[in-house]
Amino acid sequence: MLNVVIFGAPGSGKGTQSDLIIKEFGLEHISTGDVLRAEIKEGTELGKIANDYISKGQLVPDELIIDMLANVLDSKENSKGVIFDGFPRTIPQAEALKKMLNERGTDVTLMINLHVEEGELINRLLERGKSSGRSDDNIDTIKSRLEVYHSQTAPLAEYYIKEGKHHTIKGVGTIEEIFERIKERIKERINIHL
Ligand code: AMP
Repeated sequence: MLNVVIFGAPGSGKGTQSDLIIKEFGLEHISTGDVLRAEIKEGTELGKIANDYISKGQLVPDELIIDMLANVLDSKENSKGVIFDGFPRTIPQAEALKKMLNERGTDVTLMINLHVEEGELINRLLERGKSSGRSDDNIDTIKSRLEVYHSQTAPLAEYYIKEGKHHTIKGVGTIEEIFERIKERIKERINIHL
């Protein structure tokens, strides 16, 4: 299986690039943010709990996310591979992902770390906020999300460097230019595994 973790700060373009990667490589998409927003819309117990965290720009507790991920992963069992978008966001989530994939006879193939500087991230998120209808695309919540990213999520880069799977990609330029950079890295990685 080709399992790609797409990583980066809020607004770095993970969702946009995921769509292109999926089309090119025929992967399934798992976005924990999308799954949580669907739970909120349906008014489930998990959705109610998640909503409190999301609207404050904080992370939903690991246990809830890991259980949710395991359920979603089982529904993708017969796929060519999965792109993980917005997951993992903490070291315990990365360890849990490795365990879940190993139990299914596979592993993370590579991690793509989209790098975009802070001013650009804030501009993009404010722009998206005009049409996204997302409760967390406003300036106060954006600032919390960026703080949470730096303190809890960014250290994950180190985890994937140690695993030998980390690739930094410059996340500025046109959508197509950025995708070309990503595609090249994925193809290199596939060749190594052949
Ligand atoms: P996203 O759509 O990936 O930007 O996620 C939106 C929000 O959902 C985040 O700010 C978190 O509150 C929550 N969330 C999404 N994925 C995770 C995760 N892997 N761990 C914890 N919280 C998450």
